[in-house]
Amino acid sequence: MPTSALTGSQPGTTYVSMGQLKPLKIRLESASNGAGCGTTGGEGKASCGSSDGPQDMPAEVWDKVKNHPCYSEEAHHHFARMHVAVAPACNIQCNYCNRKYDCSNESRPGVVSQKLTPEQAVKKVVAVASAIPQMTVLGIAGPGDALANPKKTFDTMRMLTARAPDIKLCLSTNGLALPDLVDEICKHNIDHVTITINMVDPEIGAKIYPWIFWNHKRLTGIEAATVLHQRQMLGLEMLTARGVLTKVNSVLIPGINDQHLMDVNREVKKRGAFLHNIMPLISEPEHGTVFGLTGQRGPSAQELKAVQDACMGGANLMRHCRQCRADAVGLLGEDRSDEFTLDKLDDMEDVVYDLEKRKAYQDKVEQERSAQQAAKQQALAAASALQASQDLKVLVAVATKGGGRVNEHFGHVTEFQVYEVSAAKAHFVGHRRVDQYCQGGAGDDEQLPSVVRAINDCHAVLVAKIGACPRDELMLAGVEPVDAYVGEFIEKAALDWFNDYRARVASGAVLHQHRGDAAIRQGAYTALAA
Ligand code: SF4
Repeated sequence: MPTSALTGSQPGTTYVSMGQLKPLKIRLESASNGAGCGTTGGEGKASCGSSDGPQDMPAEVWDKVKNHPCYSEEAHHHFARMHVAVAPACNIQCNYCNRKYDCSNESRPGVVSQKLTPEQAVKKVVAVASAIPQMTVLGIAGPGDALANPKKTFDTMRMLTARAPDIKLCLSTNGLALPDLVDEICKHNIDHVTITINMVDPEIGAKIYPWIFWNHKRLTGIEAATVLHQRQMLGLEMLTARGVLTKVNSVLIPGINDQHLMDVNREVKKRGAFLHNIMPLISEPEHGTVFGLTGQRGPSAQELKAVQDACMGGANLMRHCRQCRADAVGLLGEDRSDEFTLDKLDDMEDVVYDLEKRKAYQDKVEQERSAQQAAKQQALAAASALQASQDLKVLVAVATKGGGRVNEHFGHVTEFQVYEVSAAKAHFVGHRRVDQYCQGGAGDDEQLPSVVRAINDCHAVLVAKIGACPRDELMLAGVEPVDAYVGEFIEKAALDWFNDYRARVASGAVLHQHRGDAAIRQGAYTALAA
């Protein structure tokens, strides 16, 4: 049995040999049936999205996800997460990972500016939670593997629970050590675990993982991928059986696992995964990864969406992941870690953890959510009543700085949110990172083409304000700039614009045309780095 981290000693590692691994029987339907949003009807939904509420899942599951920005798409507009970098070591090598590379302007898993001790991490979490009442979730996501560093990971969780009991605890793992540590995870009330699973076929796994370190040995090739696969499936089954919510992350690697991710989706759904998060490969040569150096490309925006769409009906999809740094702080899509560096923490007086202030914020968010739902329903009713084509479906980009509203200037955007809109629904399908166009009060025209390319598959972009130059450039590219919905809830604004668009198409004022593809931006924010 692992030794408890409560004693402060290293949890033991009970290795299970290959012969002891049980066959991957699918005996978990009952667990999966109640576990995830959208699973009750047997059909997964496009996302664990904004329509999911207490009516869609058991009360205890709703309680776990309602304020979690990664497990609820709706919550991600209002609530923040933070990662603490207490887990530097890793027990496998992935061809898309190089933890040596660091750039503070970059959002990418495995990247950190400062590694922390558990004590420093707890101090940082308490300081952040006091300054940012939206922060509801603490995750340990590296820069290595949380479970390859069990003592640091569980010591952090234990100390944090004592200081800030209302913060939800999460960790991310490649799954290799997971079966040995499931009991320890449950002991610490960690009820959200992310497992990165890129394959369920070791032949494919051998193209992604050059080696693993397991049972005191380095394994390579098919043997390594087989062990990893079996340990991942076993760990997932064990977490599901204990009622821990699991999210499966898969990196979409064109030509290697793009078609295969449908099999992954099916297999993890059988084993009770709550969410499946299919993310684009990031493989810039300067990151020094094997894939980056050998020219393996990442997917385009439409390639990513096609694989995600093909997986609909299986495990519920997460589409709002930002592939965050292992020391990210703030709302998804923003990073405030610079405000909480070690030297700044040293200068802070003793922080008082204000539970009342945090609760007051959360109550306010509940009111906003109700108003947002009501506005959306009203707009949907108007959309279905409109005497115009019911078949149109378009993508709309939105400039927002949070709160679920259209409230950001075009020039200040570093990330657009993308919604798919039809007469029947408006739902979040992704985000697009861009370099900030407006620098020091003036537009940087060199950035503009890349910003337009990032949303080139959208029919419109909803903004709080936009200058004449980007407006002209967007119009030329066929993307309609819209500043008529400032401060509106996003779904209502998108549906209202869409109703107007359909009316214009019906009248012949506009010719509806399909849009092209868009680019997924990789690498650091060059403008901010300058
Ligand atoms: S990497 Fe994805 S899942 Fe993890 S905190 Fe960021 S948004 Fe959430």
